[in-house]
Amino acid sequence: MLVRYRYRLDPTPAQQRQLARTFGCARWVYNECLRVRDGAHAGGEKVTDTEVQRRAVTLARQRAETAWLSEVASVPLVQACQDARRAYRNWFDSLRGQRKGRRIGHPRFRRKHGRQSIRLTRNGFALNGDQLYVAKVGDITVRWSRDLPSVPSSVTVIREPDGRYYASFVVDRAETPLPAAGRNAGIDLGLTTFAAVAYDDGTVENVANARHLRAAQRRLARAQRALCRKQKGSANRAKARRRVAVHHRKVRDQRADHHHKLALRLIRENQAVAVEDLAVAGLCRTRLARSVHDAGWATFVRLLREKADQYGRQVVTIGRFEPTSQVCSACGVKDGPKPLGVREWTCRACGASHDRDANAARNVLVAAGLAETRNACGAPVRPSGSPARSVEAGTHRGAA
Ligand SMILES: [Zn+2]
Repeated sequence: MLVRYRYRLDPTPAQQRQLARTFGCARWVYNECLRVRDGAHAGGEKVTDTEVQRRAVTLARQRAETAWLSEVASVPLVQACQDARRAYRNWFDSLRGQRKGRRIGHPRFRRKHGRQSIRLTRNGFALNGDQLYVAKVGDITVRWSRDLPSVPSSVTVIREPDGRYYASFVVDRAETPLPAAGRNAGIDLGLTTFAAVAYDDGTVENVANARHLRAAQRRLARAQRALCRKQKGSANRAKARRRVAVHHRKVRDQRADHHHKLALRLIRENQAVAVEDLAVAGLCRTRLARSVHDAGWATFVRLLREKADQYGRQVVTIGRFEPTSQVCSACGVKDGPKPLGVREWTCRACGASHDRDANAARNVLVAAGLAETRNACGAPVRPSGSPARSVEAGTHRGAA
C-alpha cells in the first residue's frame, strides 16, 4: 500500500534561494498550463497534454522573457503540468457529472503567498547517504524522525508559510493484519464534541477535542485579531503574519496528532468502522458547521482508511437518505428536524430519550449494516444480552 512519510528539511540559505526559484517557476508553469487550456477551451481548439507541456515548458524556456525557466530542473516543471492537467480534468469531470462528491470549481491559479511545493519523480531526486539530493538544488539535510519503510517513488518538497521546509515521500509499506476484533463501531461527526462513537455492544462514547488543541485554537484566534490591527505593508504586519502562520502550524500538528491516535485506537479495537459519506453529510449541515468541520473530517476518514488497509480492518461508508439526527435509533421513526441547539430529545413514538450525537452515531452503525436491527443497538432487548452500559439504553428501558 502507498503511504506518505514526512520529514523536516534544513536547506542552506543558498539552497533556500534555489528552492524559491524552483517554486516560482513551477507555479508559473502551472498557471500557464491553466491559461493555455482556458484559451484553447474558449477558442474551441483541442489541445493534447503534450502540446500544453510544449507551450508551457519547452517553448517558454526558449523565449527571452521567460528564459529564467531554464535555471531550474525540468522535472518539477513537468510535474506542475501534470498537476494542472489533473486539476483541469477533475473540474471537467465534475461539470459533466462524472465525478463523485461535491461540485468543484475551475482550478485556482497558484499564488505567491502561502504554501509552496514542487513534486519530483525518481529522475528528479535521490537519497544520497543521509541527505536528499534534489536536481539543481543539491544535497539537503533531512531530519530522519523515523525510518523509511522502502525506497520512495516520489517526493514533494514543501515550504510552509511559517518558513519551515518538509519532504513528503511516497513509499510502499507492507500490510500488517491484526487478529480479528469482536466489535463494530459507527461514528458521527459531532458539533459540540469532535465525534460520537456507537458500538454494536450498545455502548456509546463521546470523543472531545483535546484541551491543548482548544487552547492552541484560542491563541491562533488572538494572533489573527492582532494581525488585523497592523498597518498594511508595515514590518509589524509581516511579523504578525508570521506569528499567525506559526500558530496555524501548531493547531494543525495537534489536530493531526489527535486524529492519528483516535483513528489508530478505533481501527485496533473494532473489526469494521462505519462513517458517513462526506458528500452526503455535507448536504445536511449548516454552512457554518460545514466550514468548521468538513476539512478535519475528510482527513480523519482518510486516516481511518489508511490504518484499516494497514491492519486488515474495514471502513464502511454510508450514503445518508434521512438526516441521522432526526431519526430515532431505537424505533426508526423520523421525529422531525431539530434545531442545532437541541442536544437531547425524547422520541414521540417510543419514548426513548436521546443524546443528539450518540443517536446519530447509532443510526450510522445501523445504516452500515453493522448492527442487525435498530433494537440490537440497545442492549436491553437482546435475549442473552450484555449488561446495558449506555445511558441512552437505560433510559429507553425505563421509558418503554
Ligand atoms: Zn423511537
